[in-house]
Amino acid sequence: MSALQSLAGNSHAATTATYDVVVVGAGFAGMYMLHRLRGQGLSARVYEQGSGVGGTWYWNRYPGARCDVESMQYSYSFSDELQQQWDWSERYAPQPEILKYANHVADRFNLRSDIQFNTRVDQAVFDERENTWSVTTSDGKTVTAKYVVLATGCLSNARMPDIKGLENFKGNVYHTGHWPHEAVDFTGQRVGVIGTGSSGIQSVPVIAEQASHLTVFQRTANFSIPARNAPLTEQERQAFRARYPEIRRIAREEMKNGIFQEVPDRGALDDGGNERRAKYEARWSRGGLTFMGVYNNLALDKAANDTAADFVRGKIAEIVSDPQTAKLLQPNNHPIGSKRICIDSDYFATFNRPNVTLIDIKSNPIEEILPNAVRTASGDYEVGTLVLATGFDAMTGSVAKIDIRGRNGQTLNEKWAEGPKTYLGLMSVGFPNLFIITGPGSPSVLSNMIVSIEQHVDWITDCIAYMRDRGFGAMEAKQDAEDRWVAHVNEVAHTTLYPQANSWYMGANIPGKPQIFMPYIGGVGVYRTSPPRAMRDLR
Ligand code: FAD
Ligand code: NAP
Repeated sequence: MSALQSLAGNSHAATTATYDVVVVGAGFAGMYMLHRLRGQGLSARVYEQGSGVGGTWYWNRYPGARCDVESMQYSYSFSDELQQQWDWSERYAPQPEILKYANHVADRFNLRSDIQFNTRVDQAVFDERENTWSVTTSDGKTVTAKYVVLATGCLSNARMPDIKGLENFKGNVYHTGHWPHEAVDFTGQRVGVIGTGSSGIQSVPVIAEQASHLTVFQRTANFSIPARNAPLTEQERQAFRARYPEIRRIAREEMKNGIFQEVPDRGALDDGGNERRAKYEARWSRGGLTFMGVYNNLALDKAANDTAADFVRGKIAEIVSDPQTAKLLQPNNHPIGSKRICIDSDYFATFNRPNVTLIDIKSNPIEEILPNAVRTASGDYEVGTLVLATGFDAMTGSVAKIDIRGRNGQTLNEKWAEGPKTYLGLMSVGFPNLFIITGPGSPSVLSNMIVSIEQHVDWITDCIAYMRDRGFGAMEAKQDAEDRWVAHVNEVAHTTLYPQANSWYMGANIPGKPQIFMPYIGGVGVYRTSPPRAMRDLR
């Protein structure tokens, strides 16, 4: 234990303890952060508002939830024993298995003793004289720490839609991002799903198998690629494991999205129509996110992008029997990939079932939720249970809920009123010794998140060690460095097609949220080379 830790020993003192580091959140980021801090001999307290570890995989228990980055890659790399010993059962593990993995990691590395569950961090105030943070939690206690690490997650603040009458609905209402721990049985029920992003697209086929009738309310049709999920054989696992060091290094250093895969050397328009179609067919058959990796310019060139979008629209028309339904399901208002592409199991085919109806709420908006129905401009649709797959206040939502006060009493919410401003997505000027794991301005949600999490955790650990070795009290980025980084993130985003979509990457799903492209699109490989150069940008 470090010398910094000292229990106040005073039962009525408001400040109950002092730690080197307070970590907020016990998902994959907070858990690995704790492990690394302990390895440095630092005292750390992790606060988690949920009752268990796992973050995303603790909260998102909806039917059909699973990862869309293949499990052999969507897993920690920091422990070779762990990656050699853990057996993933399927190409894309289902949520219960990923949660089991998170719990296994917590047990294996004995993390729970430093995690306080069922406790929300409400406030963090910087003391400029002492260079420490006072952190207040929902149990009414305040602790002091030299550093605070926000491991609060990019997709952890579930967004309840602001729909008139929702509070009067008589049946059960479930948000996919806040799903109950008990199994929900839809057998014999009339179910309505609002939202057709990744969560809606994963849950619809599973709910359709149980419900007596399922009505899907779609505002924006989304591009989705079949997952082609399948059990993993021992041979497949072993082949991967044998190459893990190389695969992990390439994913971290050479890939844009932190996923090991072939790197395309051609643009979509460099191939003739037949050849291009054959390549798209091959990727469609293989399934998964690598569909977008077939050519190197799909995110950059609209004409190239159109070839991929047309291919997927064609597939939807082939799969869905009713031409009118197929047309509604064909995305037509954004380039493919500019909203997070979805990965599904039988999503489009589900609309061929006699018990499934698609309602277009773009042209017939939902007007009101009645006690037993959804009222749209074109009529009422009777439902007994509602599933809200309406997404998240992404990237900034969970940070904004904490009252964070830095130098001169400025709040982070004031500073970010026109959009998040960070240096490397890791820190924000005026908030010394406060780190954000996968914050806005870092590759984060555009990457295999565990690759980005591990990079940030390792960087923060090294940074704290560096400061301790030199006896530094506080550190933050220089203002001009932050300004340059914010401008760079914005500039790179606008060289791509991404800003053309009303996506949560842009904050467009939250009324009134400033529309700024939040993640860094330059890629994890390029991003990784920045921090060493950036040391001169810190003070
Ligand atoms: P989280 O897992 O979100 O954990 C943050 C934790 O912080 C939460 O448990 C939350 O309760 C806690 N917290 C927040 N605020 C406070 C507070 N004030 N006080 C106390 N606790 C707080 N990414 C991929 O790369 N591949 C995938 O296949 C993939 N699939 C996904 C599927 C779903 C359904 C969703 C929603 C996201 C998916 N993601 C995926 C993104 C996913 O969020 C990350 O991969 C990763 O799990 C994030 O880990 P984290 O620890 O950073 O955040
Ligand atoms: P999302 O992508 O933001 O989708 C939300 C859906 O709800 C959209 O279709 C949206 O329509 C609709 N919606 C929102 N508010 C509405 C309202 N008031 N009325 C009607 N419709 C409304 O959220 P998500 O599906 O939860 O996914 C979020 C992210 O989490 C994903 O992009 C992905 O990164 C991650 N995720 C991954 C997986 C996976 O496959 N592993 C699964 C789930 C989530 P509009 O598009 O018109 O706004």
